[in-house]
Amino acid sequence: MTQPTSPTPSTASRHRVVVIGSGFGGLFSTQKLKGADVDVTLIARTTHHLFQPLLYQVATGILSEGEIAPSTREVLHRQRNAKVLLGDVTDIDLDARTVTHTAVGRETVTPYDSLIVAAGAGQSWFGNDQFSRHAPGMKSIDDALELRGRIFGSFELAELASTPAEVERLMTFVVVGAGPTGVEMAGQISELAKRTLRRDFRRIDPTKARVILLDAAPAVLGSFGEKLGERAVKRLTEMGVEVRLGAKVVDVDSTGIEVETDDGSRERIESVCKVWAAGVSASPLGRRLAEQSGAGVDRAGRVEVNDDLTLPGHPEVFVVGDMMALRGLPGVAQVAIQGGRYAAEQIERRLEGKPPKGPFEYFDKGSMATISRFSAVASVGKAQFSGFFAWILWLAVHLVYIIGFKHRITTLLHWVVTFIGRGRSERVVTEQQVFARQAIADLGSDYSPELPRLEKDRPHEAQAD
Ligand SMILES: Cc1cc2nc3c(=O)[nH]c(=O)nc-3n(C[C@H](O)[C@H](O)[C@H](O)COP(=O)(O)OP(=O)(O)OC[C@H]3O[C@@H](n4cnc5c(N)ncnc54)[C@H](O)[C@@H]3O)c2cc1C
Repeated sequence: MTQPTSPTPSTASRHRVVVIGSGFGGLFSTQKLKGADVDVTLIARTTHHLFQPLLYQVATGILSEGEIAPSTREVLHRQRNAKVLLGDVTDIDLDARTVTHTAVGRETVTPYDSLIVAAGAGQSWFGNDQFSRHAPGMKSIDDALELRGRIFGSFELAELASTPAEVERLMTFVVVGAGPTGVEMAGQISELAKRTLRRDFRRIDPTKARVILLDAAPAVLGSFGEKLGERAVKRLTEMGVEVRLGAKVVDVDSTGIEVETDDGSRERIESVCKVWAAGVSASPLGRRLAEQSGAGVDRAGRVEVNDDLTLPGHPEVFVVGDMMALRGLPGVAQVAIQGGRYAAEQIERRLEGKPPKGPFEYFDKGSMATISRFSAVASVGKAQFSGFFAWILWLAVHLVYIIGFKHRITTLLHWVVTFIGRGRSERVVTEQQVFARQAIADLGSDYSPELPRLEKDRPHEAQAD
C-alpha cells in the first residue's frame, strides 16, 4: 500500500526540522531543540532509542532489552515541539526538501526546512555478507536476542549431543573482532560458562567451554594503545579466552569457521556459535545524500561533511554520528551526541539571527571497555587505567548515559545480581529469536531452522565422530 501523505500539515508556519534516527545523534539533537521555536519530527525505523554499548549484556542474559532501549515516544513525551514517527527512510530529496519513509507498506513524505541525518551504521562483513547467516553481528535488539538464543541454545544442544565431537563443536564460541565489542562479548561468554552455568547442566561441564577471540589485526583493542591492549590480552587469557591475532576469517558455515594466518596457512575451527563483532558500514542513506550533493564518501560509506557538519552545498542538511566522515573522528557515542547537539544549536542560532558557531570540535571524554566483572580498561586523556578502578568508572559512566531513572535502577539491580552474585536474570530464549532470521531468509523456499538440523545437515560428520 502506497499512500503518499504528509503527516506535517502546513498549518503552522514554524521552521520544520526533520531528524532521521533515534540513536545518540538523533535523540540528543531533538532534545537540544526543546526550547527552540521549531517543530521537530523525529523519524526512525524503531520505536526505541537503543543504547548500543550494552547490547552485549542483552546477548549474554545480564540485561533485558527494555533496559537499554527506552521508548523514544516516552523519552520525548514532555517535549511539546517534538513528534515521533515510525518509518524506514527510503529516500531523501534534497531539491524538494522531503524525506520519504515507509512503515508496514504505508509510504509517507515529510517536508523539512532543516534536516539532521543520524541514521548510524550497520554491521559490515567486509564484502562477505553470506557470513552473516552463520556469524550474526550485533547492532540491534534483534541481533542481541538472536545471539542470546544461539549462545544459551548451544549449551542446551550440547547437553543433548551424542558424541564428544558434537559437544565440543557446540561448546566452542568464536568471537570475530577484537575491538571493545568483541572483547566484552568474549569476556562475558566466558563468565557465563564459568560462573553462571557452572552447576546448571548434568551431562556437560559448561566450564569446559572454549571461547576464541579472533582478529586479523595484530593487536587487541587497537584504538586503546599497546599498553591497555596487552593488559586486556592478559586478563582474557587468565579467564581462559584464547586470543588469536593475525587470523583472517575466510569462510563461515553453520558448524565452523575457517581462518587464514599471516603465513598463509588455513585452519578450520569447529564451532556452531559465532559472533561477528568486526566492521561497520554507514547507512545507505549516506550514499543517497552523496549522489545528490556530490559529497564524497569514505570506504565505510560515511559522508564527508563540512567543518560545521553540513552537507556540501546544503547548509540546511546536517549529517552526524556514525554516518559522517570528518577529520577521522571515531564512530562512538560521544561523537554522535556532541554532533547532534551542535547541529541543533546551529539551527537555533540561524533562526535567532545569531552568528554561527565555529567548526565542530569534538571533546574526547575517553574510551573504555569491560573485560570481565571487576576488570576493565579505560583511557581518559593521557591517563590510562585498567582493573577494578577502570571497571567502576565504566559502571558509573554507563549508568549516567542510560536514559531514564527507572532504567538506571533496574540496570543497577541486574548488575548486582550478575557481578556480586553469579546469576543472570534474562535467560529467556524464544523460538522466534533463534529461528526468525533464518525463517525470514528462507521464506518462499524451505523453512529450515538450523541448530536442530545439525545431524541431518552433516550426516557424514556425525558418523565420523
Ligand atoms: C555493540 C556496540 C557497542 C558499542 N559500544 C560503544 C561504547 O562502549 N562506547 C561508545 O562510545 N560507542 C560504542 N558504540 C558505538 C556507538 O553506539 C555509536 O557510535 C552510536 O550509536 C552512533 O550514534 P548514531 O546516532 O550515529 O547512530 P545510532 O545510534 O546507530 O542510531 C541510528 C538510528 O537511525 C535509525 N535508522 C537507521 N537507518 C534508518 C532508516 N533508513 N530510516 C529510519 N531510521 C533509520 C536507527 O533505527 C537508529 O535509531 C557501540 C556500538 C555497538 C554496535
